[in-house]
Amino acid sequence: MTAPEQPQRTTMSGKSITASQFDRAANLINLEGYMRRILLSPFREVQVEVPVRMDDGRIEVFTGYRIQHNGARGPCKGGIRYHPEADHDEVLGLATIMTWKTALMDIPFGGAKGGVTVDPKKLSRLELERLTRRFTQRISILLGPYRDVPAPDVNTNPQVMAWILDEYSSRHGYTPAAVTGKPVSLGGSLGRDEATGRGVMYVMTEYARDFGLPLKNARVVIQGFGNVGSHLARLLAAEAGAKVVAVSDVNGGVYNDRGLDVPGLLAHAAGGRSVSEWPGGKAITNDELWTIPCDWLVPAALGGVITREANAKTLDCKVVVEAANAPTTPIADLILADRGIPVIPDFLANAGGVTVSYYEWAQNLQQYRWTHEQVNRELQATITRAYAGVRDLAKEKGATLRTAAYAIALQRVAEAERLRGN
Ligand code: NAD
Repeated sequence: MTAPEQPQRTTMSGKSITASQFDRAANLINLEGYMRRILLSPFREVQVEVPVRMDDGRIEVFTGYRIQHNGARGPCKGGIRYHPEADHDEVLGLATIMTWKTALMDIPFGGAKGGVTVDPKKLSRLELERLTRRFTQRISILLGPYRDVPAPDVNTNPQVMAWILDEYSSRHGYTPAAVTGKPVSLGGSLGRDEATGRGVMYVMTEYARDFGLPLKNARVVIQGFGNVGSHLARLLAAEAGAKVVAVSDVNGGVYNDRGLDVPGLLAHAAGGRSVSEWPGGKAITNDELWTIPCDWLVPAALGGVITREANAKTLDCKVVVEAANAPTTPIADLILADRGIPVIPDFLANAGGVTVSYYEWAQNLQQYRWTHEQVNRELQATITRAYAGVRDLAKEKGATLRTAAYAIALQRVAEAERLRGN
């Protein structure tokens, strides 16, 4: 058997991706030089070694990171990622995006991100638990409900958050607000699991109305079928009446021109099988996914997948919605702009997760649970307001949605820094 094809990702650094996009917006709002320096450099970075006892008795040593990019507007907030390519540069880029995301949503958090360089698929469940507990011990000095609050990201989930909560609480007393994305029975919020996908759908709904691209029967292609991609596919099909024609995961994709039966595909994938093995469509490679004509193209897997070299010149879509973080390189972004393909930027499109994480944190601090309907209602109001602000500024300044989103976020963080005396 051959190894599954690994689609190309850019080798461009996460830091340089966020920096080049930052400059355009900083120029738009005439940001002072010293403030650019404060807003681009991380507040605090920690690298730790994570020794883990494996099931066969050996000790394997992994490397972990927690980077707090900015905390001017509130406690640092951001996910923890387990991935073989997670490194300092990627985590720094993602921590930076979190600062802009929380500011754009106007929720009282700063930005952070964590990661461990590991392939979790090669670990047993007990090894994964030991890794999570060890990593939490090593970074726990940085964490806390008013300091830095982790959440799930790629290859981490509510169970991993439960272990983090348990490890943190064993030192500090029961502290549910120390981590979000927990299981509901441990103080997690109703609706958190689907929040990122739901937020993407709300933004698409607003954009669809404003720009005359109805979601009903629209052709949608989604890269990634994990937390974000699978909930988004489900919600788009069930609530927006869209036709999801292709999705993929790390092992390949599946395509059906008449629209995939998303509930059937979800049931298949719930058994741990790749979407490419599902009989309800034609199996496609990860590269072929980018060639499928569609209205909405939604990268919902990893960063750096839309590049000049691979696909930016040939994508056949009307709009790109960045459900993943940093999926488009800056050069690809310019190519798409030249081709007249708008991009709804990551820290607007995928901000539903951190927004509901904020509601989870607030519920934990108040020891009061919201209903699922209340969570969805508040999420829709918050993300719609943020979208409208970006749309209006982009129109006023003749800027892209990304530059407008950056400008709003930079303005808010800079104001907080100034008020704090910087
Ligand atoms: P996940 O681990 O649940 O799912 C990732 C999916 O991507 C899986 O289906 C995996 O098979 C697929 N994938 C991985 N490598 C791939 C490749 N090379 N080609 C095609 N598919 C590939 O992760 P997630 O939580 O769904 O996160 C996806 C993206 O969304 C990430 O960029 C993450 O940073 C971003 N994001 C997640 C959240 C959240 O709440 N989970 C919030 C905001 C942003």
